[in-house]
Amino acid sequence: MPQEELSNEEKLCADKFASETRSLMFLHGNGVLTEGLKENFRVFHDFSVRSGVPMGSVLITNRDQCRKCTRVLQVDDKTHVIVIYHIYFGSYLGSRITKWCRKCKIYEHYGYWTEGGNRYFNEDCLEQDFLLTSEETAYHIPLLEECESLLVVGAVPFSTFASSYNRRFKYANLESSSRTLKVKRMKR
Ligand SMILES: [Zn+2]
Repeated sequence: MPQEELSNEEKLCADKFASETRSLMFLHGNGVLTEGLKENFRVFHDFSVRSGVPMGSVLITNRDQCRKCTRVLQVDDKTHVIVIYHIYFGSYLGSRITKWCRKCKIYEHYGYWTEGGNRYFNEDCLEQDFLLTSEETAYHIPLLEECESLLVVGAVPFSTFASSYNRRFKYANLESSSRTLKVKRMKR
């Protein structure tokens, strides 16, 4: 049916259906994740990298109040670049943002907080989309789950899992071609 013949209510339903279908694509994984979606993500990612703030994913805590004194947390202006390992999109650049309480000197990050130089993980940190494993690295939780189940059943050692990930996203080829490029440059 042509779009102009739809009533407003029907249009709303159509939009709702379209957005629900899009989110289902994420749930059902690579098989139905269209190339178009990956391409849109890549374009957006590359644009944000060129703009100086990588926004493939932005990791920031949902918490607004200090866990100790309940004051409103301040958002740090400075964003930090992180490398994200994603089960469908491969590795890409994102950012993390810190919130903090000036009085208690508590720093809230995505999934954990730091206080007096110690790091504490939130109880629900594995229920989020990503696990921030260092100040510069985050893993997509479904990727960790895939890795964990393969390691537990003894299917592969971690190095093989890592090689398979690199092969799937053609990182090994990229690495060898950049090496070739360096060799060529050095010859000049
Ligand atoms: Zn506080």
